[in-house]
Amino acid sequence: MERKTTRTIPSRMANQRASYDDQTIYSILDEALFCTISYSEDDVPYSIPQSFVRIDNYIYLHGSVGSHLMRTLSDGRSTCITAMLADELVIAKTAFHHSVNYRSVVIFAKGELIEDENQKFVAFKALTEKMVPNSWDYLKPMTMKEMQKTTAIRFSLDEASAKCRQAPPTHEESEMDVPIWTGLIPIKPLRQAPIPDEHGAKIPLPEHLHDLI
Ligand SMILES: Cc1cc2nc3c(=O)[nH]c(=O)nc-3n(C[C@H](O)[C@H](O)[C@H](O)COP(=O)(O)OP(=O)(O)OC[C@H]3O[C@@H](n4cnc5c(N)ncnc54)[C@H](O)[C@@H]3O)c2cc1C
Repeated sequence: MERKTTRTIPSRMANQRASYDDQTIYSILDEALFCTISYSEDDVPYSIPQSFVRIDNYIYLHGSVGSHLMRTLSDGRSTCITAMLADELVIAKTAFHHSVNYRSVVIFAKGELIEDENQKFVAFKALTEKMVPNSWDYLKPMTMKEMQKTTAIRFSLDEASAKCRQAPPTHEESEMDVPIWTGLIPIKPLRQAPIPDEHGAKIPLPEHLHDLI
């Protein structure tokens, strides 16, 4: 598998910031909860945000059988999927050198509809556990009817790139003595205190949700 293709080499900073190894790509995809799926239909470009999960060298999407996105992607058309983690705002002395520290992945692939019920089950469980770790066994088991109402599609990670900026602000020699604050502002997402609804309010918070925050 050669992930590096003519489509996956950035024109800027390829040597410094791009990588193609499993560890980098998988770790970003395992941390990012959401991705953006881009494809075209009848010459109209679509770019749709969605949840996803990685299993081995694939990412899996799920959605209603009635979803336009899922129906369209299941025909195996060319698709580009991106996922990103924005870690820090990079504050420099000039607007020009302001930047973002990030880790992101771009994937080119064609969707494969998952017909096998066991494979679908594994994907649904993995997605649920990714969003809310250790929750699957706590939940009311998924029914066959629910399974049938839901489509799963997977995309290979055979043609994908990661790109990461993890660095302090850039300064020009000429601006070193200018008294302007510079540094990083972390913007990592947080899981905050749960807000129970009227049913949840009657039940103690389970351990796995305590752990999540
Ligand atoms: C949160 C965030 C904010 C950003 N803000 C800016 C900004 O304001 N201005 C700016 O110029 N850039 C920004 N970037 C970087 C941006 O994503 C591109 O990498 C950048 O525009 C340079 O693209 P390019 O022309 O080198 O890539 P292209 O030549 O257009 O891309 C060629 C191939 O390189 C790979 N590639 C390119 N970018 C990425 C990526 N980010 N992750 C994984 N693979 C990639 C893909 O496989 C792509 O198909 C940001 C990235 C993130 C995640």
